[in-house]
Amino acid sequence: MSRINFSKKTRLRAASLLIAAALACSPLETGLLTAQEVSAASVPDQKSTVSEANIQKLLSAYDKDGAYLTKYALDSDGSFFFMLTTMYFSPDAPTEDTLDTVSHEAFHEFAIPSYWFSDQESERIYIGNKKSIKVNFTDVYPSKEMAKSVPKRCRTAAYHYESGDRFKTYIVDVSGNQRSDVDGVYGLLNEFGGYCWGMNSNNKLYSYRDKFDDNFDTWESFISEGESDRLAYAEFKYYILHYMYYAKQHHPDIYRKILANAKFRKAYRLTERRFAKEISDYDKKLTKVQEKLRKGANINLTNDKLILRKQYNVMTKEVKKKQYADIQRALTK
Ligand SMILES: [Zn+2]
Repeated sequence: MSRINFSKKTRLRAASLLIAAALACSPLETGLLTAQEVSAASVPDQKSTVSEANIQKLLSAYDKDGAYLTKYALDSDGSFFFMLTTMYFSPDAPTEDTLDTVSHEAFHEFAIPSYWFSDQESERIYIGNKKSIKVNFTDVYPSKEMAKSVPKRCRTAAYHYESGDRFKTYIVDVSGNQRSDVDGVYGLLNEFGGYCWGMNSNNKLYSYRDKFDDNFDTWESFISEGESDRLAYAEFKYYILHYMYYAKQHHPDIYRKILANAKFRKAYRLTERRFAKEISDYDKKLTKVQEKLRKGANINLTNDKLILRKQYNVMTKEVKKKQYADIQRALTK
């Protein structure tokens, strides 16, 4: 596919949005941009170096949830962008390749802002459209206590590349201040949500990437982030259900109180549902990308070449087992 004239396309897009915004009584409610936002929405070119301004421009134009969370994080934590460029991606990374991580980390900052010092007793789980659920914590046990009870097949390290080793990071080697350890199942829910809203940003940026040449460079990050998030859905759903199953056997009091926490159940139910929707959206987009790569770059990237799928299938099968299906039902009824 030939390259389109992107700068011209950008201006046309801004113009049509201006007209739409002028016609709508309440542009924000309809998801359209206001006139001020449109002028800020002259989106960066492909592979523009990441900056706070470029992040906000791209998210404002393509992903209102990511834009909302990220604005919150940048306002709430003065070192948020610096933290990202020292811990998660290099300061010269292309903006579009960073937004999955940006929204993921912004979700965490929104859930438990860094200025809330010391021991938290609640978190805010973002559920979309600027809404969140305040989940109060009940007693928990540290997530690493259940590590030994996780069967080998569910210890996902072997299949991971780049995305890190989540079983180790969130369950086994958790340092004393890791949320999944300190906050138990509430920390795992916080992580589940982070991956969900990161994936949402990755999906939303599809139409931005779609303006460029169909080569691997355009789509590589979309696929690697999408595959990693897809696995994270299965991993964290399993960790949460296994956490509950372990509690049911070893800490019945803790189990009972978590299960009785209606806000937790609601936040889990909505996050799980949203995440599943993101996965089916991603799968549809991926099918198109595979076709684009085949036609545009002669690259035959079939599903069997996407290595995280094997682990995803193992974890998905695991949570269908009766002990987990029972807990899933109890959490989502
Ligand atoms: Zn996270």
